[in-house]
Amino acid sequence: MIRINHNYLKLRASYLFADIARRLEAYQVQHPGKEIIRMGIGDVTRALPAACIDALHGAVDEMARDSTFRGYGPEQGYRFLREKIAQHDFKDRGAQVEADEIFVSDSAKCDTGNIQEIFATDIRVAVPDPVYPVYVDTNVMAGRTGVFQDARYQNLVYLECNAENHFVPQLPAEPVNLIYLCFPNNPTGATITKEQLRLWVDYARHHKALILYDAAYEAFIRDDRLPRSIYEVEGARDVAIEFRSFSKTAGFTGMRCAFTVVPASCKAYTAEGKPVAIRDLWNRRHTTKFNGVSYPVQRAAEAVYTAEGMAQVKALTDYYLHNAAFIRQAFTDLGYACVGGENSPYIWVNTRSDSWAFFDRLLEKAGVVCTPGAGFGKCGQGYIRLSAFNNFENVQKAMDRIRSALI
Ligand code: PLP
Repeated sequence: MIRINHNYLKLRASYLFADIARRLEAYQVQHPGKEIIRMGIGDVTRALPAACIDALHGAVDEMARDSTFRGYGPEQGYRFLREKIAQHDFKDRGAQVEADEIFVSDSAKCDTGNIQEIFATDIRVAVPDPVYPVYVDTNVMAGRTGVFQDARYQNLVYLECNAENHFVPQLPAEPVNLIYLCFPNNPTGATITKEQLRLWVDYARHHKALILYDAAYEAFIRDDRLPRSIYEVEGARDVAIEFRSFSKTAGFTGMRCAFTVVPASCKAYTAEGKPVAIRDLWNRRHTTKFNGVSYPVQRAAEAVYTAEGMAQVKALTDYYLHNAAFIRQAFTDLGYACVGGENSPYIWVNTRSDSWAFFDRLLEKAGVVCTPGAGFGKCGQGYIRLSAFNNFENVQKAMDRIRSALI
């Protein structure tokens, strides 16, 4: 008898997006032909930077000739890309990261989901609430949680993010071993200061814990005082892994390229307390289960670091940030408290009502789709997430309609 991993039965179906789709369908049946504006999506909408397209074409031409053709590449990524990442994303910003500490992959979703498998199943895991669901669900699959009860999984430590703590979690009251942090945050759009991040690094060092730092939205940071990498904090190299992605930075959601940084000095421990280099374990895992990102895609990612590429990426993220500022201002003017949208493409709006009721209201009255905050965790109740990934004309139209609907 083939038996299943019973932990999969603990998973909740993805109610959030299924529910949104169901309500949308019902609305469309009742209002045929009515144009709907989607402000809930976390997917980019604008074309790739020209520098990436040029590099992509060049690489495709190389693949067309026997003399320049490339087959399997290094699983960890080509040297040309890893060196550019180390230099531009870290060393130029004063963070010490070497090329051989960078693992290029096809997805930060996969990496943030897969990393947990190299750690023991009986560790204590802390996740923010609200949260990017991948962190939670992959720990459920691995058997680190109990059942889902009262909107939460048993055995997980939830780090509450709310208006009182400005959506930056406080250190947990009980010791934890693995900590997920994400800044700029999805879904709240909140950011963390270097001083706040230092508290977490010190905590992790003191408790021999590990921080999984998801910086997928780092490219949206405009405030120079904010850290763009956890490695800007002293001592973080020993206790933190950082995840990055070209998805939101350079519009690569349909291209697939990301990377994970595992510093050489980052350690986990055997049951006897003997330190083990996490980089070696992740390298073993990566080379066994992953076969590298395609050559043309890595060349396109490399082009992000050329002078033109950097200017184009800046223009692209500026465009979305302009949308974000517009959305935030519109809701603020209507009297709603907002977070995010300043160094992030997401705006987290306190609706002062039930998340789903507000979702229905925006859909019914304005034909605008948002994401109900309750879908990201207990602390998301009462909020909605709006995404700035759209064209500006749509954003303007959506805000006009919302203004008329809510006034
Ligand atoms: N991390 C966060 C916080 C995200 O919001 C997303 C995508 O929405 C990802 C990671 C996934 O990135 P990728 O496209 O590289 O898989």
